[in-house]
Amino acid sequence: MQVIPVPCLSDNYAYIVIENGRAAVVDPSQGDPVLRAIDQAKVKLTEIWLTHHHWDHIGGIEALMEECPIEHVRGSQYDSDHERIPRQTDALSDGDTFEFGGAAVDIMEIPGHTLGAIAFVTSGNLFSGDTLFIAGCGRVFEGTMEMMSKSLDKLRALPPSTQLWCGHEYTVNNLRFAKTIEPGNAEVERALQEAVATREAGQFTVPGQLDRELATNPFLRFDDPAVASGRDPVASFTAIRTAKDSF
Ligand SMILES: [Zn+2]
Repeated sequence: MQVIPVPCLSDNYAYIVIENGRAAVVDPSQGDPVLRAIDQAKVKLTEIWLTHHHWDHIGGIEALMEECPIEHVRGSQYDSDHERIPRQTDALSDGDTFEFGGAAVDIMEIPGHTLGAIAFVTSGNLFSGDTLFIAGCGRVFEGTMEMMSKSLDKLRALPPSTQLWCGHEYTVNNLRFAKTIEPGNAEVERALQEAVATREAGQFTVPGQLDRELATNPFLRFDDPAVASGRDPVASFTAIRTAKDSF
């Protein structure tokens, strides 16, 4: 399976996923950059996968429908029920699996950022949208803090080698924040230096890898004694997320 990150807008990522000649795009906020990327990769785009309904993840749907032989526009059951993803054809729920180019794609419901948020998991790759970022997590807009912490708890149980493809390039800022939560965490400092160098070289920080996230991401470490310092898990998560909102 090949994954090609496509930078869109100011800091969004769409991803082209290629398996056995089949191509899908995850979260196309725009049409043009995605069309250029599939042209370059010489693939035919037949599927669109949406992690959630926000405009900076779905804005390219109409343009891609016009230019490509799209067979499936896949999003969550919740977003289908609320008719907030245009042209959606498939409504997905927790535990659903579909086949793509011979590979299985598993769906996890991960509400919190929005109530319809889902992750696509396939061949060791996690497309997490705005729920889990490298060294961070999305704002809690529609769900509760407890709901978001449970969603992140589900994601961190995936295999440690899982490649993390997230919705935005926020890594450097997230690691700067992580340092304020765990000033003594050497892994955070190392990851920050690497991320700064990567961005200065004009490269992407995606994909992350889950084992490193477990060691550096405060939103996966909220119940670690070093981070929680005596608070219960939800209180700890809430305190960290609230601090990040104004960082
Ligand atoms: Zn969002």
